[in-house]
Amino acid sequence: MANSKYEYVKKFEDDDRLPPCNWIVVRIDGCHFHRFSADHEFEKPNDKNALNLMNSCAVSMLEHFPDIVFAYGVSDEYSFVLKETTQFYQRRASKILSLSVSYFTSLYVMKWKEFFPDKELKAPPSFDGRVICFPKAKIIQDYLAWRQVDCHINNQYNTCFWNLVNSGKTEREAQEFLKGTQSKDKNELLFQQFGINYNDLPAMFRKGSCVYRDKVEETAKLDKGGNSIKRTRNKVVLAHIDIIGPKFWSEHQYILEE
Ligand code: ATP
Ligand code: ATP
Ligand code: MG
Ligand code: MG
Ligand code: MG
Ligand code: MG
Repeated sequence: MANSKYEYVKKFEDDDRLPPCNWIVVRIDGCHFHRFSADHEFEKPNDKNALNLMNSCAVSMLEHFPDIVFAYGVSDEYSFVLKETTQFYQRRASKILSLSVSYFTSLYVMKWKEFFPDKELKAPPSFDGRVICFPKAKIIQDYLAWRQVDCHINNQYNTCFWNLVNSGKTEREAQEFLKGTQSKDKNELLFQQFGINYNDLPAMFRKGSCVYRDKVEETAKLDKGGNSIKRTRNKVVLAHIDIIGPKFWSEHQYILEE
């Protein structure tokens, strides 16, 4: 196309390419989901359908963007890790961020009915996003551990809070009651007062959700002799597991390799 005299305006655009040799994390978070979850009557503290919807969107993200190697989600947020060497949109921050957020948001709307067949989507959900660079795989592990610790702390607090509220305290009273309590006190409260063993709660609530690719053995159809044929396939999987200790990463070293 011929240059026009207006071409110079392009010079006002920033070069926002992210530095090479860095892992890239995109973290998205639901906008005003305190309100959104109330408007759509999410179960408190954890609405399973809402979490399953988030997880389904994350699985579709990995299926759509091959350079995402890992995702971790809790509540209304998800972190997506892009491999160190990605050349997706020349590593331009605004392209990576805007595509991630808009694609995720569209998935959330498109899949809503699948997870809430009886609930009308009353307002358009939106997500904010940020992009962060980490120069070492070890820091990615620490970043993800940080999110999982946060999941644990919030879930423990929220489980106590909503049990207190459901047993007759006002939200203010429940908040006052929990002020200054340690982790041990909260587990004790749940057990003594509500008969809940914290560790028996669903792993999805306690550990959050991990999405990554793994080799899965599948039984394909029978061959002519009537024997089943097994084959391994690289599949996007969802798991609610510990990623703070070294076990997961030593068993899945390929995820954070170059
Ligand atoms: P912001 O726009 O600043 O992110 P927010 O209202 O979304 O504000 P968050 O700190 O992101 O605040 O908290 C998310 C809110 O959404 C919490 O209040 C949480 O209870 C609610 N929420 C998100 N997912 C679920 C779920 N699966 N079940 C129940 N509540 C949920
Ligand atoms: P990129 O992802 O790089 O933006 P693109 O395919 O979206 O790739 P654009 O330069 O944005 O490329 O061009 C938009 C394309 O969408 C054009 O091919 C145009 O013909 C088509 N398109 C968009 N809006 C309309 C419309 N209202 N009617 C017909 N075609 C449209
Ligand atoms: Mg936010
Ligand atoms: Mg939010
Ligand atoms: Mg949040
Ligand atoms: Mg276009």
